[in-house]
Amino acid sequence: MSKLEFVNVSKQYRVRGAGTLTALDNINFNISSGRTVALVGQSGSGKSTIAKIIIQLERATAGQVLLDGKPIPHSGKALRDYRQKVRMVFQDPFASLNPTQTIRHHVERPILLNRIVPRNEVDGETRRLLNLVQLDADRIIDRRPHELSGGQRQRVAIARAIASRPTLLVADEPVSMLDVSIRLGVLNLLADLQRSQNLGVLYITHDLATARHFSDEIMVLHHGRCVEYGPSDSVILQPKHPYTKSLLGASPNPERHFGAKANTGVMPAVGAEGVVAPSLTHPAGADRAVAGGEAWSGGLIDLDGDPLRVGDSYTDGQTVLDGEGIVENGEDAGLAVGYQGVQL
Ligand code: ADP
Repeated sequence: MSKLEFVNVSKQYRVRGAGTLTALDNINFNISSGRTVALVGQSGSGKSTIAKIIIQLERATAGQVLLDGKPIPHSGKALRDYRQKVRMVFQDPFASLNPTQTIRHHVERPILLNRIVPRNEVDGETRRLLNLVQLDADRIIDRRPHELSGGQRQRVAIARAIASRPTLLVADEPVSMLDVSIRLGVLNLLADLQRSQNLGVLYITHDLATARHFSDEIMVLHHGRCVEYGPSDSVILQPKHPYTKSLLGASPNPERHFGAKANTGVMPAVGAEGVVAPSLTHPAGADRAVAGGEAWSGGLIDLDGDPLRVGDSYTDGQTVLDGEGIVENGEDAGLAVGYQGVQL
């Protein structure tokens, strides 16, 4: 069991000619093993500064960051131990892997540095981790990053992050650079690992829909201040702060995606919990969608803070298909899913 705490943490940057800029103002939160906390906010709200303080690329100007009740170390063996326990998955899988090194090198390095297994077991451990992130170890272990897709690279980065057997993972916008069709797969992988390895996860995102789906708690940041922090469902369903409400208002909307070109028939869809999902749109119009049992993709369920997983079923007999129908939703993409209209 491990716990990372931010206690009254503030961070000011000196800006040449403009004095100081407050990037974080009195931030308090904690993450324990087995829990996921989402950090949500627009660009510039201070999300990455929190990640940088955790992985010690930056130091807090005021306040304390504690791991298991002790201030995080800045040197020596204590720092090495901290770096074993607290690991990061970066946003850009293209920049975070060294193009001159093999996949084996990336995953094996933290195993060797932290002496996770005896030397003669390193190859087996490397392959185990690659398979754990659903890559075919035999096929890719001796390849270089440029031979892999973005999604595969991010899986390598995840394998590398968990290779030292950390207790806490900081995932800074881990899917925002990936093709939208594979984002859900990578997020589900992170969620599975979080459960199986009992990890604490800080999930940094600007997407409230996935924040709710994948996190126990959400902290909403605005100009470096925490404007809302609590259980995910209450933050999404009963937002208190106007800024959270405005973020929710900017959630994806199918009409926005299909635009004026689509002959959109909007049908009400009833969610699994009996909540009326905002709308469901078939690009070819409602008439096509009502054909019983007809499968189609490209339809959207506007999740509006309520992402649906593959296999979810609805009280009116509709079933979410596989990930094929995942579609980008304009500037602030949420999750959208393929859909089968069984009977409406
Ligand atoms: P986010 O990750 O939410 O986009 P950041 O944590 O990167 O936000 O940035 C928070 C604020 O701090 C922004 O106003 C940003 O311009 C500023 N900032 C971040 N890093 C630095 C830096 N090294 N020097 C000066 N200002 C910075």
